Amino acid sequence: MPELELPKDDFVRDIIRDDLSKGSHQAVITRFPPEPNGYLHIGHAKSICLNFGVAKEFGGHCHLRFDDTNPAKEEQEFIDSIKEDVSWLGFDWGENLFHASDYFEQLYSWAESLINKGLAYVCDLSAEEMREYRGTLTEPGRDSPYRNRSVEENLSLFREMRAGGFPEGSKTLRAKIDMASGNMNLRDPALYRIKHAAHPRTGSTWKIYPTYDYAHGQSDAIEGITHSLCTLEFADHRPLYDWLIEHLTVPARPRQYEFARLNLTHTVLSKRVLMRLVSEGHVTGWDDPRMPTIRGMRRRGVPPEALKDFIGRLAISKSDSTIEMQMLDHSIREHLNEHAERRMAVLKPLKLTIRNWPKGQTEMLEVPNHPGRPELGTRKIPFSGSLWIEADDFMEDPPRKFFRLGPGREVRLRFAYLVTCEDFIKNETGEVTEIICTYDPATAGGNAPDGRKVKGIIHWVSAVHAIEAEVLLTSQLFKSENPSAGGDPIEDIDANSLEVVKEVKLEPELASALAGYPVQFERLGYFNRDPAQSQLAFIRTIGLRDSWAKTQTKG
Ligand code: ATP
Ligand code: MG
Repeated sequence: MPELELPKDDFVRDIIRDDLSKGSHQAVITRFPPEPNGYLHIGHAKSICLNFGVAKEFGGHCHLRFDDTNPAKEEQEFIDSIKEDVSWLGFDWGENLFHASDYFEQLYSWAESLINKGLAYVCDLSAEEMREYRGTLTEPGRDSPYRNRSVEENLSLFREMRAGGFPEGSKTLRAKIDMASGNMNLRDPALYRIKHAAHPRTGSTWKIYPTYDYAHGQSDAIEGITHSLCTLEFADHRPLYDWLIEHLTVPARPRQYEFARLNLTHTVLSKRVLMRLVSEGHVTGWDDPRMPTIRGMRRRGVPPEALKDFIGRLAISKSDSTIEMQMLDHSIREHLNEHAERRMAVLKPLKLTIRNWPKGQTEMLEVPNHPGRPELGTRKIPFSGSLWIEADDFMEDPPRKFFRLGPGREVRLRFAYLVTCEDFIKNETGEVTEIICTYDPATAGGNAPDGRKVKGIIHWVSAVHAIEAEVLLTSQLFKSENPSAGGDPIEDIDANSLEVVKEVKLEPELASALAGYPVQFERLGYFNRDPAQSQLAFIRTIGLRDSWAKTQTKG
């Protein structure tokens, strides 16, 4: 028996618990059914965590099923990326990898059985005419003029559709339900469309493809899915889901349940918009660190555990809401604060020279990798008389409360010595280019033996030993909290959301940093080695300041 996690509490788990205790099902079987027409985003992660999560908690299985019914938009690249992303999140479908296309033959023969029962017909209305005939929410639709074709005519036309005898868009197979239904989904919905595009798995075998509504429930039935969990917008499709299951001789009776999708501020979770961001070049790709895709977040250095922690805090409910991005940031920071090793790096370098440092000498300082976790060990960093510090840590004419460097002021160099600023040098344009300091040799480790107070601590990198890299600093891709509020979210893109900082100075240890193991650059934030670049480069995963935690404790 695999180890079971204690089930969480929400309406989905209540239903499952109830079904299991009544014996309606022996085991829970769920599925995650992505359409391979894009990369997964954080909204999908909610569905993945729910489907794989409940299966695991109740000792069942979760299937990964590709809903590959639209060859015009689907690609192998997306199939591969989806598998990789689900695995990266830490979920395992084991042997349960399926494709709706595995069932094309079965789905086809069930469609013929609907025709035989007089419950489906071939319709020649164009897409536009179909919309017209469909009516509106307040007006009933009208029967298609092709609705009363005989079973024989329907069968022969449908077979001809399959054989490729008709051009795309010229005919559909429709369920014969009720054009006056209050539910638009029951107004003779399309079950099959003609498409001549090649399919990534079935090639050119098929000229007709089932619609989502027709394929989904029947695939659930074939796989013995017990709880088919989808987002709220499918609630109105449930009567059709049930109608099809009822009128077909399917091997099982799955049921659909709907939960609220994840919406997040400052981003867009629509594959259509994400696709546009990529194809129109507003971002550098699906893995752009500003994208809400699993790929983008992974490249940025977001740990899968932090993502799952965030999702675990979300309610699985029946009403839509929008979650603040800061809540996700909070989970990321909390995880990284505990797990990320500390390093020193200088983003905006200014030279600091120690006048009284023994010429040419290097001292290796042994420093902890994490201030609170000695088990993460130590490393050695070189200290010398020529350092880089942050330009912002010096002011020519600082106010009293500025506890960093200024003329005559003393500061602690992290892990090293106290230094006092004696002088500074400017170039012709008046820019400070170098700080001249003296160090107090009695303050090794940063402690003054006479107990004098030095408030400021700044970080540094030895200039002689520093290595250089490029750093990507990103901020929210969209300016507004709700990028779609004004219409087209593309208009809301912040053109300054990606900044490339060149020649950042790093402590030598960072040469061996690994992508996927973000580190904290002391005082600057968390950074991940960029897996997409062959030369050394880092991406800021997230800054240090947590505004969300503060607002939560205030209220
Ligand atoms: P589309 O159907 O427009 O291509 P989609 O986002 O629904 O986009 P699918 O590949 O069909 O993409 O989604 C796979 C599963 O992920 C579905 O069960 C869907 O309900 C779920 N899902 C998609 N977006 C979200 C979201 N924002 N929150 C929770 N679940 C989601
Ligand atoms: Mg969908």
